[in-house]
Amino acid sequence: MVNETAYALGSNRSCIRELFEYGRRRAAIVGEENVYDYSLGNPSIPAPPAVAQAIGDILAHMDPVQIHGYTSAAGDESARRAIADDLNRRFDAHVRWEKLFLGAGAAPELAAVFHALAVPGGELLVVAPYFPEYRVFADAAGLKMQVVAPDVPDFQIRIPVVAELLTPNTVGVLVNSPNNPSGVVYTRQTLQALAQLLQEKSREFGHPIYLIADEPYRELTYGGVEAPFIPLIYPDTVVCYSYSKSLSLPGERIGYIYVPEEATDSDTLYAAIAGAARSCGHVCAPSLWQHVIARCAGERPDLAQYDRNRRALYDGLTAMGYETARPDGAFYLFVKAPGGDAVAFSEKAKQRDLLLVPGDDFGCPGYFRICYCVKYEMILRSLPVFRALLEP
Ligand code: PLP
Repeated sequence: MVNETAYALGSNRSCIRELFEYGRRRAAIVGEENVYDYSLGNPSIPAPPAVAQAIGDILAHMDPVQIHGYTSAAGDESARRAIADDLNRRFDAHVRWEKLFLGAGAAPELAAVFHALAVPGGELLVVAPYFPEYRVFADAAGLKMQVVAPDVPDFQIRIPVVAELLTPNTVGVLVNSPNNPSGVVYTRQTLQALAQLLQEKSREFGHPIYLIADEPYRELTYGGVEAPFIPLIYPDTVVCYSYSKSLSLPGERIGYIYVPEEATDSDTLYAAIAGAARSCGHVCAPSLWQHVIARCAGERPDLAQYDRNRRALYDGLTAMGYETARPDGAFYLFVKAPGGDAVAFSEKAKQRDLLLVPGDDFGCPGYFRICYCVKYEMILRSLPVFRALLEP
């Protein structure tokens, strides 16, 4: 006997993974250069050189027992101090290192935060388009997930729609900026309007509505666009950060949760998150990578390659007549499907070995996602295929 929900989750692959595997199979038949795979968000730039240097330094100079040993469940003090120092230097944010909890990437961090907030009947508002795994984590935690319909075509946040959906049962609102899948960065103005609404509603309901900021893409913005540090706009924010994309370390599983000292019931919330992580079997984040972060918390990615890809696609596709939100961040373009049916359009593209992910699973039908952490040459080869798909 097994748990049916767990079995269903384990036996059904995500649509993105399916597409990626399909691309691998097609490449074996028609050749790598004839498949245009925009399915998977795996960073295509290497980690900054400082990461390899840090690993060398750790292996050469640290006590091996310490390198690979357990740290405290919340993480090694030196890594937490380095992260706090970096945030304080950049944002003047008054982050206390004791309020950081190191995790194995944003996914388990989000799951822990959801569990920590899951009071009976608790509701979580998620702004569409959104990362599909949120629903899996919310269901597992017993939170009812409510979706805020997308703000087309700009993909900011429709504040009046959030207002309509907030109820006394709302424990949290989740935002992800820079956004997967839209590539949009929420403006300071959008975040301030959301903060004002949540402050008013928290007062009205007599309990805090926490903002959960899912931030794996915080460092990935282009053209000088600002991704504001949300706790400074709304102190009742819990940040789930990851180095998967910012340092190109997705397989190493390292990130952090930050609970501001200024948040309502900050100590209780932090303890509940630590307890939720514990109940999910979290022992400590990978130890070697904590030591790397202690040395590399201030490192930033070199975004030149992503930016070149972004501009090639954005300029190329908009010149052909495709409509897309302004891709100021992350490494995604979210494009309106010609004809309106993104599933049908993506299927048509697949027939030409162009792999696009329909927006339906992201809570936004009618759009498809392009993940541009790919080779530049592939983008150039794929543009004629995009053009051909517009022909009647
Ligand atoms: N949140 C968003 C929006 C993502 O796109 C991803 C991964 O692609 C995650 C969370 C999970 O990231 P991690 O690798 O840190 O678990």
